[in-house]
Amino acid sequence: MNYNGIIVKYSKYLPIDPRCIVTLNEGNTPLLHAPRLSALIGKGVKVYLKLEGLNPTGSFKDRGMTYAISKAVEAKSQAVVCASTGNTSAAQAAYAARAGLRSYVLIPKGKIALGKLSQALVHGSRVLAIDGNFDEALEIVRKIGEQGLATVVNSINPYRLDGQKSAAFEIAEQLGDAPTYHALPVGNAGNITAYWRGYKQYHSEGMIEKLPKMLGFQASGSAPIVLGRPVKNPETIATAIRIGNPASWQYALQARDESKGLIDKVTDKEILKAYHLVASLDGYFCEPASAASIAGILKLAKNKFFKSGDVIVCTLTGHGLKDPDTAIKGVKPPIFVKPDLKKILKAMKL
Ligand SMILES: *Cc1c(COP(=O)(O)O)cnc(C)c1O
Repeated sequence: MNYNGIIVKYSKYLPIDPRCIVTLNEGNTPLLHAPRLSALIGKGVKVYLKLEGLNPTGSFKDRGMTYAISKAVEAKSQAVVCASTGNTSAAQAAYAARAGLRSYVLIPKGKIALGKLSQALVHGSRVLAIDGNFDEALEIVRKIGEQGLATVVNSINPYRLDGQKSAAFEIAEQLGDAPTYHALPVGNAGNITAYWRGYKQYHSEGMIEKLPKMLGFQASGSAPIVLGRPVKNPETIATAIRIGNPASWQYALQARDESKGLIDKVTDKEILKAYHLVASLDGYFCEPASAASIAGILKLAKNKFFKSGDVIVCTLTGHGLKDPDTAIKGVKPPIFVKPDLKKILKAMKL
Protein backbone atom coordinates (compact mmCIF):
# COMPACT_ATOMS: atom_id res chain seq x y z
CA MET A 1 0.00 0.00 0.00
CA ASN A 2 1.22 3.50 -0.75
CA TYR A 3 2.19 5.53 2.27
CA ASN A 4 1.23 9.19 2.11
CA GLY A 5 2.31 10.65 5.44
CA ILE A 6 0.68 10.95 8.85
CA ILE A 7 -2.29 13.17 7.94
CA VAL A 8 -3.64 10.63 5.45
CA LYS A 9 -2.86 7.67 7.71
CA TYR A 10 -4.38 9.22 10.83
CA SER A 11 -7.03 11.34 9.12
CA LYS A 12 -9.52 10.49 11.85
CA TYR A 13 -7.39 12.40 14.37
CA LEU A 14 -6.06 15.10 12.03
CA PRO A 15 -9.08 16.60 10.28
CA ILE A 16 -8.44 18.87 7.29
CA ASP A 17 -9.61 19.67 3.76
CA PRO A 18 -7.63 17.02 1.80
CA ARG A 19 -6.74 19.57 -0.88
CA CYS A 20 -4.69 21.50 1.69
CA ILE A 21 -2.44 18.64 2.81
CA VAL A 22 1.27 19.47 2.59
CA THR A 23 3.32 16.34 3.17
CA LEU A 24 6.80 14.95 2.59
CA ASN A 25 5.61 11.47 3.62
CA GLU A 26 6.85 11.97 7.16
CA GLY A 27 6.24 9.39 9.91
CA ASN A 28 6.15 5.59 9.58
CA THR A 29 9.64 5.53 11.14
CA PRO A 30 11.30 2.28 12.27
CA LEU A 31 11.17 1.01 15.83
CA LEU A 32 14.54 -0.67 16.10
CA HIS A 33 15.41 -3.24 18.76
CA ALA A 34 18.77 -2.42 20.38
CA PRO A 35 20.06 -5.73 21.76
CA ARG A 36 23.43 -4.54 23.02
CA LEU A 37 22.02 -1.50 24.76
CA SER A 38 19.26 -3.68 26.22
CA ALA A 39 21.88 -5.98 27.76
CA LEU A 40 23.52 -2.98 29.43
CA ILE A 41 20.23 -1.76 30.88
CA GLY A 42 19.31 -5.05 32.51
CA LYS A 43 18.61 -8.72 32.19
CA GLY A 44 15.37 -9.43 30.37
CA VAL A 45 14.85 -5.77 29.50
CA LYS A 46 14.10 -4.84 25.89
CA VAL A 47 15.08 -1.42 24.59
CA TYR A 48 13.68 -0.15 21.32
CA LEU A 49 14.76 2.99 19.49
CA LYS A 50 12.16 5.03 17.63
CA LEU A 51 14.25 6.44 14.81
CA GLU A 52 12.77 9.87 14.33
CA GLY A 53 15.93 11.03 12.61
CA LEU A 54 14.65 9.14 9.57
CA ASN A 55 11.89 11.66 8.98
CA PRO A 56 12.28 13.72 5.77
CA THR A 57 14.12 16.64 7.39
CA GLY A 58 15.87 14.43 9.95
CA SER A 59 13.83 15.00 13.10
CA PHE A 60 10.43 14.34 14.65
CA LYS A 61 9.48 17.99 14.04
CA ASP A 62 8.13 16.93 10.62
CA ARG A 63 5.15 15.22 12.27
CA GLY A 64 3.85 18.42 13.78
CA MET A 65 4.99 20.59 10.90
CA THR A 66 3.05 18.75 8.19
CA TYR A 67 -0.17 19.43 10.09
CA ALA A 68 0.65 23.00 11.18
CA ILE A 69 1.61 24.00 7.64
CA SER A 70 -1.38 22.22 6.10
CA LYS A 71 -3.67 24.03 8.53
CA ALA A 72 -1.98 27.34 7.70
CA VAL A 73 -2.71 26.67 4.02
CA GLU A 74 -6.32 25.79 4.86
CA ALA A 75 -6.62 29.09 6.76
CA LYS A 76 -5.19 30.91 3.70
CA SER A 77 -2.15 32.17 5.58
CA GLN A 78 0.64 33.56 3.38
CA ALA A 79 3.55 33.44 5.80
CA VAL A 80 4.83 31.32 8.69
CA VAL A 81 7.29 32.10 11.47
CA CYS A 82 9.02 30.24 14.29
CA ALA A 83 11.73 30.55 16.91
CA SER A 84 13.95 27.54 16.81
CA THR A 85 16.95 25.75 18.25
CA GLY A 86 17.28 24.33 14.74
CA ASN A 87 15.03 21.42 13.90
CA THR A 88 11.75 23.32 13.92
CA SER A 89 13.25 25.80 11.48
CA ALA A 90 14.53 22.99 9.23
CA ALA A 91 11.09 21.39 9.14
CA GLN A 92 9.24 24.68 8.70
CA ALA A 93 11.57 25.69 5.88
CA ALA A 94 10.98 22.45 3.97
CA TYR A 95 7.20 22.30 4.38
CA ALA A 96 6.76 26.04 3.73
CA ALA A 97 8.81 25.68 0.53
CA ARG A 98 6.54 22.84 -0.58
CA ALA A 99 3.44 24.86 0.27
CA GLY A 100 4.72 28.04 -1.40
CA LEU A 101 4.47 30.04 1.83
CA ARG A 102 6.87 32.76 2.90
CA SER A 103 8.97 31.46 5.77
CA TYR A 104 10.78 33.32 8.56
CA VAL A 105 12.86 31.75 11.31
CA LEU A 106 14.49 33.25 14.39
CA ILE A 107 17.46 31.35 15.77
CA PRO A 108 19.86 32.03 18.66
CA LYS A 109 23.08 33.30 17.08
CA GLY A 110 25.92 30.76 17.08
CA LYS A 111 23.92 28.13 18.97
CA ILE A 112 22.46 26.13 16.15
CA ALA A 113 23.96 22.98 14.67
CA LEU A 114 25.43 23.37 11.20
CA GLY A 115 23.19 20.82 9.48
CA LYS A 116 20.03 22.50 10.73
CA LEU A 117 21.17 25.96 9.69
CA SER A 118 22.01 24.73 6.21
CA GLN A 119 18.55 23.17 5.90
CA ALA A 120 16.71 26.39 6.75
CA LEU A 121 18.87 28.32 4.28
CA VAL A 122 18.72 25.81 1.44
CA HIS A 123 14.92 25.68 1.56
CA GLY A 124 14.81 29.43 1.11
CA SER A 125 13.63 30.68 4.50
CA ARG A 126 14.60 34.11 5.70
CA VAL A 127 16.85 33.25 8.64
CA LEU A 128 17.37 35.82 11.40
CA ALA A 129 20.09 35.07 13.93
CA ILE A 130 19.34 36.99 17.10
CA ASP A 131 21.75 37.96 19.81
CA GLY A 132 19.78 36.10 22.47
CA ASN A 133 18.53 32.65 23.39
CA PHE A 134 15.58 30.55 22.26
CA ASP A 135 13.25 31.81 24.98
CA GLU A 136 13.80 35.43 23.93
CA ALA A 137 13.26 34.54 20.28
CA LEU A 138 9.98 32.82 21.12
CA GLU A 139 8.73 35.90 22.98
CA ILE A 140 9.24 37.98 19.85
CA VAL A 141 7.65 35.36 17.61
CA ARG A 142 4.57 35.31 19.86
CA LYS A 143 4.21 39.06 19.30
CA ILE A 144 4.56 38.71 15.52
CA GLY A 145 1.75 36.15 15.70
CA GLU A 146 -0.45 38.38 17.88
CA GLN A 147 -0.10 41.15 15.32
CA GLY A 148 -1.41 38.76 12.65
CA LEU A 149 1.68 39.16 10.45
CA ALA A 150 2.41 35.45 10.12
CA THR A 151 1.19 32.09 11.45
CA VAL A 152 3.33 30.89 14.34
CA VAL A 153 4.29 27.23 13.93
CA ASN A 154 6.10 26.73 17.21
CA SER A 155 4.56 24.09 19.45
CA ILE A 156 2.30 26.76 20.98
CA ASN A 157 0.42 26.10 17.71
CA PRO A 158 -1.89 23.24 18.81
CA TYR A 159 -1.68 21.49 15.42
CA ARG A 160 1.98 20.74 16.09
CA LEU A 161 1.19 18.57 19.12
CA ASP A 162 -1.75 16.95 17.32
CA GLY A 163 0.59 15.83 14.54
CA GLN A 164 3.27 14.66 16.96
CA LYS A 165 0.80 12.31 18.65
CA SER A 166 1.15 10.09 15.58
CA ALA A 167 4.50 8.76 16.89
CA ALA A 168 2.72 7.23 19.90
CA PHE A 169 0.12 5.65 17.60
CA GLU A 170 2.88 4.11 15.49
CA ILE A 171 4.72 2.68 18.50
CA ALA A 172 1.47 1.18 19.81
CA GLU A 173 0.97 -0.48 16.42
CA GLN A 174 4.60 -1.59 16.12
CA LEU A 175 4.68 -3.20 19.59
CA GLY A 176 1.04 -4.32 19.69
CA ASP A 177 0.65 -2.38 22.95
CA ALA A 178 2.28 0.51 24.79
CA PRO A 179 5.79 -0.05 26.19
CA THR A 180 6.35 -0.20 29.96
CA TYR A 181 8.41 2.99 29.78
CA HIS A 182 8.78 5.70 27.17
CA ALA A 183 11.97 7.76 27.47
CA LEU A 184 12.65 10.99 25.60
CA PRO A 185 14.56 14.27 25.81
CA VAL A 186 12.63 17.30 27.07
CA GLY A 187 13.24 20.80 25.76
CA ASN A 188 10.13 22.86 25.18
CA ALA A 189 8.21 19.79 26.42
CA GLY A 190 5.91 19.57 23.41
CA ASN A 191 6.93 16.05 22.49
CA ILE A 192 6.44 14.47 25.91
CA THR A 193 3.02 16.14 25.99
CA ALA A 194 2.12 14.86 22.53
CA TYR A 195 3.24 11.28 23.21
CA TRP A 196 1.26 11.14 26.42
CA ARG A 197 -1.85 12.48 24.71
CA GLY A 198 -1.39 9.98 21.90
CA TYR A 199 -1.07 7.01 24.23
CA LYS A 200 -4.05 8.17 26.30
CA GLN A 201 -6.14 8.55 23.17
CA TYR A 202 -5.33 5.04 21.94
CA HIS A 203 -5.95 3.67 25.43
CA SER A 204 -9.35 5.31 25.73
CA GLU A 205 -10.30 3.83 22.36
CA GLY A 206 -9.20 0.33 23.38
CA MET A 207 -6.33 0.24 20.87
CA ILE A 208 -3.82 -0.54 23.66
CA GLU A 209 -4.27 -2.27 27.01
CA LYS A 210 -1.78 -0.40 29.12
CA LEU A 211 -0.28 3.06 29.39
CA PRO A 212 3.47 3.66 29.58
CA LYS A 213 5.27 5.55 32.31
CA MET A 214 6.81 8.65 30.75
CA LEU A 215 10.50 9.29 31.46
CA GLY A 216 11.63 12.76 30.42
CA PHE A 217 15.25 13.92 30.52
CA GLN A 218 16.60 17.46 30.49
CA ALA A 219 20.23 18.52 30.25
CA SER A 220 21.67 19.56 33.65
CA GLY A 221 22.53 23.04 32.38
CA SER A 222 18.99 23.64 31.17
CA ALA A 223 16.71 21.72 33.47
CA PRO A 224 13.94 24.15 34.49
CA ILE A 225 11.32 21.44 35.01
CA VAL A 226 13.61 19.41 37.28
CA LEU A 227 14.63 22.52 39.24
CA GLY A 228 11.08 23.87 39.38
CA ARG A 229 12.04 27.31 38.09
CA PRO A 230 13.00 28.90 34.75
CA VAL A 231 16.70 28.92 33.85
CA LYS A 232 17.81 32.31 32.61
CA ASN A 233 20.92 31.28 30.68
CA PRO A 234 20.48 27.65 29.72
CA GLU A 235 23.61 25.86 28.52
CA THR A 236 24.16 22.41 27.09
CA ILE A 237 25.93 20.71 24.22
CA ALA A 238 22.50 19.30 23.31
CA THR A 239 21.36 22.51 21.60
CA ALA A 240 17.93 21.11 20.68
CA ILE A 241 16.99 21.06 24.37
CA ARG A 242 18.76 24.28 25.36
CA ILE A 243 15.55 25.85 26.67
CA GLY A 244 15.13 27.65 29.97
CA ASN A 245 11.38 28.23 30.06
CA PRO A 246 9.47 25.43 28.28
CA ALA A 247 6.22 26.39 26.56
CA SER A 248 4.51 23.11 27.54
CA TRP A 249 5.85 23.01 31.08
CA GLN A 250 2.51 22.36 32.79
CA TYR A 251 1.55 19.64 30.30
CA ALA A 252 4.89 17.92 30.88
CA LEU A 253 4.18 17.80 34.63
CA GLN A 254 0.77 16.39 33.84
CA ALA A 255 2.30 13.67 31.61
CA ARG A 256 4.81 12.82 34.34
CA ASP A 257 2.25 12.68 37.15
CA GLU A 258 -0.61 10.97 35.32
CA SER A 259 1.72 8.29 33.97
CA LYS A 260 3.56 7.92 37.32
CA GLY A 261 6.79 8.58 35.46
CA LEU A 262 9.56 11.05 36.16
CA ILE A 263 11.51 13.95 34.71
CA ASP A 264 15.19 13.92 35.58
CA LYS A 265 18.38 15.57 34.36
CA VAL A 266 21.55 14.22 32.77
CA THR A 267 24.91 15.96 32.42
CA ASP A 268 26.49 16.84 29.09
CA LYS A 269 29.13 14.25 29.87
CA GLU A 270 26.49 11.56 30.29
CA ILE A 271 24.75 12.72 27.10
CA LEU A 272 27.95 12.50 25.05
CA LYS A 273 28.78 9.09 26.48
CA ALA A 274 25.33 7.80 25.52
CA TYR A 275 25.63 9.43 22.09
CA HIS A 276 28.81 7.50 21.35
CA LEU A 277 27.47 4.35 22.95
CA VAL A 278 24.37 4.04 20.81
CA ALA A 279 26.40 4.75 17.67
CA SER A 280 29.13 2.24 18.45
CA LEU A 281 27.06 -0.49 20.13
CA ASP A 282 23.87 -0.54 18.13
CA GLY A 283 24.87 1.26 14.94
CA TYR A 284 22.63 4.26 15.11
CA PHE A 285 23.84 7.84 14.89
CA CYS A 286 21.56 10.33 16.63
CA GLU A 287 22.08 13.95 17.58
CA PRO A 288 23.26 14.86 21.11
CA ALA A 289 19.83 15.93 22.41
CA SER A 290 18.37 12.58 21.34
CA ALA A 291 20.99 10.75 23.38
CA ALA A 292 19.58 12.33 26.56
CA SER A 293 16.96 9.58 26.51
CA ILE A 294 19.67 6.90 26.43
CA ALA A 295 21.73 8.71 29.08
CA GLY A 296 18.61 8.88 31.21
CA ILE A 297 17.82 5.18 31.15
CA LEU A 298 21.50 4.34 31.75
CA LYS A 299 21.41 6.56 34.82
CA LEU A 300 18.23 4.90 36.10
CA ALA A 301 19.63 1.43 35.36
CA LYS A 302 22.54 2.10 37.72
CA ASN A 303 20.00 2.16 40.55
CA LYS A 304 18.28 -1.03 39.36
CA PHE A 305 15.23 0.90 38.26
CA PHE A 306 14.19 -1.56 35.53
CA LYS A 307 13.20 -5.18 35.91
CA SER A 308 13.06 -8.22 33.66
CA GLY A 309 10.22 -8.05 31.17
CA ASP A 310 10.23 -4.26 30.95
CA VAL A 311 9.94 -2.81 27.47
CA ILE A 312 11.52 0.63 27.04
CA VAL A 313 11.11 2.82 24.00
CA CYS A 314 13.62 5.64 23.58
CA THR A 315 12.75 8.30 21.05
CA LEU A 316 15.86 9.25 19.11
CA THR A 317 14.49 12.62 18.13
CA GLY A 318 16.98 13.73 15.46
CA HIS A 319 19.68 12.42 13.13
CA GLY A 320 23.37 12.57 14.03
CA LEU A 321 24.32 14.25 10.74
CA LYS A 322 22.49 17.36 11.92
CA ASP A 323 25.43 18.24 14.14
CA PRO A 324 28.71 17.22 12.46
CA ASP A 325 30.79 19.54 14.67
CA THR A 326 29.89 17.68 17.85
CA ALA A 327 30.46 14.35 16.12
CA ILE A 328 33.94 15.23 14.91
CA LYS A 329 35.04 16.78 18.19
CA GLY A 330 34.39 13.66 20.22
CA VAL A 331 36.32 11.11 18.17
CA LYS A 332 39.88 10.34 17.04
CA PRO A 333 40.73 12.09 13.75
CA PRO A 334 41.54 10.02 10.64
CA ILE A 335 45.10 8.70 10.37
CA PHE A 336 47.21 10.33 7.64
CA VAL A 337 48.97 7.74 5.42
CA LYS A 338 50.71 7.72 2.03
CA PRO A 339 49.01 5.61 -0.66
CA ASP A 340 51.28 2.64 -0.02
CA LEU A 341 49.97 -0.82 0.89
CA LYS A 342 52.66 -1.62 3.46
CA LYS A 343 52.24 1.67 5.28
CA ILE A 344 48.47 1.34 5.18
CA LEU A 345 48.53 -2.17 6.60
CA LYS A 346 50.85 -0.97 9.34
CA ALA A 347 48.51 1.88 10.19
CA MET A 348 45.61 -0.58 10.19
CA LYS A 349 47.56 -2.80 12.58
CA LEU A 350 46.63 -5.76 10.37
C1 LIG B 1 12.82 19.77 19.41
C2 LIG B 1 13.75 18.70 19.80
C3 LIG B 1 13.76 18.15 21.09
C4 LIG B 1 12.92 18.67 22.19
O1 LIG B 1 11.54 18.44 22.01
P1 LIG B 1 10.49 19.32 22.82
O2 LIG B 1 9.19 18.99 22.21
O3 LIG B 1 10.89 20.73 22.61
O4 LIG B 1 10.61 18.91 24.25
C5 LIG B 1 14.62 17.10 21.35
N1 LIG B 1 15.46 16.62 20.40
C6 LIG B 1 15.47 17.12 19.16
C7 LIG B 1 16.42 16.55 18.17
C8 LIG B 1 14.62 18.17 18.82
O5 LIG B 1 14.67 18.67 17.58
